[in-house]
Amino acid sequence: MKVMKFGGTSVGTAQRMKDVSQLITKDGESKIVVLSAMSGTTNTLVEISDYLYKKNAEGANNIINRLEQKYMEHASELYATDEYRIATQKFLKEEFNYLRSFTKGLFTTFEEKIILAQGEIISTNMVTNYLKECGVKTYLLPALDFMRTDKNAEPDFRFIKENITELLEAHPGYEIYITQGFICRNAYNEVDNLLRGGSDYTACLIGAAIQSEEIQIWTDIDGMHNNDPRVVDHTEPVRQLYFEEAAELAYFGAKILHPTCIQPAQFSGVPVRLLNTMDPAAPGTIINNDIQKGTIKAVAAKDNIISIQIQSSRMLLAYGFLRKVFEIFESYKTSIDMVCTSEVGVSVTIDNKAYLKEIIADLMKYGTVTVDEDMCIICVVGDLSHANVGFESRITQALKEIPLRMISYGGSNHNISFLVKGTDKKRALQALSDTLFKN
Ligand code: ASP
Ligand code: MG
Repeated sequence: MKVMKFGGTSVGTAQRMKDVSQLITKDGESKIVVLSAMSGTTNTLVEISDYLYKKNAEGANNIINRLEQKYMEHASELYATDEYRIATQKFLKEEFNYLRSFTKGLFTTFEEKIILAQGEIISTNMVTNYLKECGVKTYLLPALDFMRTDKNAEPDFRFIKENITELLEAHPGYEIYITQGFICRNAYNEVDNLLRGGSDYTACLIGAAIQSEEIQIWTDIDGMHNNDPRVVDHTEPVRQLYFEEAAELAYFGAKILHPTCIQPAQFSGVPVRLLNTMDPAAPGTIINNDIQKGTIKAVAAKDNIISIQIQSSRMLLAYGFLRKVFEIFESYKTSIDMVCTSEVGVSVTIDNKAYLKEIIADLMKYGTVTVDEDMCIICVVGDLSHANVGFESRITQALKEIPLRMISYGGSNHNISFLVKGTDKKRALQALSDTLFKN
């Protein structure tokens, strides 16, 4: 059974919901469909929560009223029959009254997470009702009944697998199983979520749990591109990616996919296909376990990077120096992306500067610290195994005009990364495209 996930823009209007419904029922095959909230809704729910944290009930109520109005309009446009329109509007009324109930009383992250969950609960109910109105045998699988994280806020894969399998067995014979992306329960059975953009993660977890033949992530662009189309001219979709290449790209800036979602799919060997709702016949990008020998696939960039260099003659021939340095980052829960070392110094990059001041103060005990902000990591992915010759030189040749602050190669067989100034990003990306992908 295939798993298909549609993001917020793909269900962003009544018409889009109709289009998605047509797309998922075209082949008559049974499938699980994961939906995000309608585009903009989760942001609006965050805004409502912000007002409630500030104890501004009136501000929250205004936004709730506006959102409700919009949804009522969507519902009147979506359904052809009074029966389904009235039932859905009644459901929406209850949902929005529920949201209003949070404007009274204590407001904590616990309540916020319940509020954030309503976007997906609403969109899935609307589409389920629409499919039923169209006569499609549809079952709504409540994500809160099977999607769960553990005490480390990581998906509890065993629980998920057991519970979704049971649910599917208890409700056999439906053509479409709809479920909510993003939302889950945590180890304490509270409503929680898989962090923003987490619907992709939901889809991949379900696909892995049921050993799906394929996980399809539907967005509104034509798969993963070989460079950032917003920055560079003449980018092209990449037709195939190895799981690790896709994970590197997702992390380093290709916004199309949630960075951690590849893991469960790779772990269970289920291919992930990126497809375009605006052009459903286009081939998109397939992510699987094939390594295409000797090819460079794509380039991505990550902005707002901070590089920190620690230089110390005490590092020379000393052991334990790197551990001390890394421990400082660990103690401030700040993860390191790139690392380069020499005998007398180490440079690392971070993208979270919440504790930058504290980190620098601690590092100064161990050496001279130099910080550069507004840097950019440029990452090239492909079959970059050390056994291949000539790739590194082609890539650095492409960047010959750009001052390179750090180079990292050899960490994996699929990536080489460069740290450049943010102001050099566009030039660097274009030069790489012109050199690596011009045919
Ligand atoms: N609705 C959630 C968000 O906007 C999850 C998702 O769309 O993937 O972050
Ligand atoms: Mg998304």
